[in-house]
Amino acid sequence: MSREHYIDKRYGKLVVLSCEDDNKHCKVKCDCGEIESKLYTKLPYRYQCRKCSYKEMGMKGRKKYDELDNILIGRYNAMINRCTNKKHSNYHRYGGRGIKIDSSWDTKEKFLAWAKPRYVEGLELDRINNNGDYGPNNCRYVSHKENCRNKTAALANKSNTLPIGVTYCGTRYKAQRSGNYLGLFDTPEEAHIAWEKA
Ligand SMILES: [Zn+2]
Repeated sequence: MSREHYIDKRYGKLVVLSCEDDNKHCKVKCDCGEIESKLYTKLPYRYQCRKCSYKEMGMKGRKKYDELDNILIGRYNAMINRCTNKKHSNYHRYGGRGIKIDSSWDTKEKFLAWAKPRYVEGLELDRINNNGDYGPNNCRYVSHKENCRNKTAALANKSNTLPIGVTYCGTRYKAQRSGNYLGLFDTPEEAHIAWEKA
């Protein structure tokens, strides 16, 4: 579709100069002289260039995030996603198990205030109690190696308390008697019953 009809149109302080090759953006010139690229679809909602917007917002302006903030906000959003989005591939390990986000982290600002002084590149957020929620009382930053070690230890622990004939296997429970594989079960109890019957 041709976007030519946009040329010379005015949106607030912006005038459309030309169409960009991607057919999604156009070059606009602001009354202040600034030239920038805008999405056609956003034109009705933009009336000035970015510089003018920042100037207008001045000191009271929107909080600007630095690079580290953005990394941590990304992690924060991923955490919320795991806990609340049923379509997330790992939802069953988080939200599906009742893992929630503590109210002390109900905004990204609160999370940033906690995480920023603690986070160092390469570290991962670890829940101390694997069945507990995400929050300042149950979280710490650890290295990837340490995180794996904790997970393995948690699994070993889980295996130690399992009924006879049952071992933990990924996300399910394996029943086995005298070397004979009896199947995978959703709960250790079911696996144990299979063992008893064998
Ligand atoms: Zn401007």
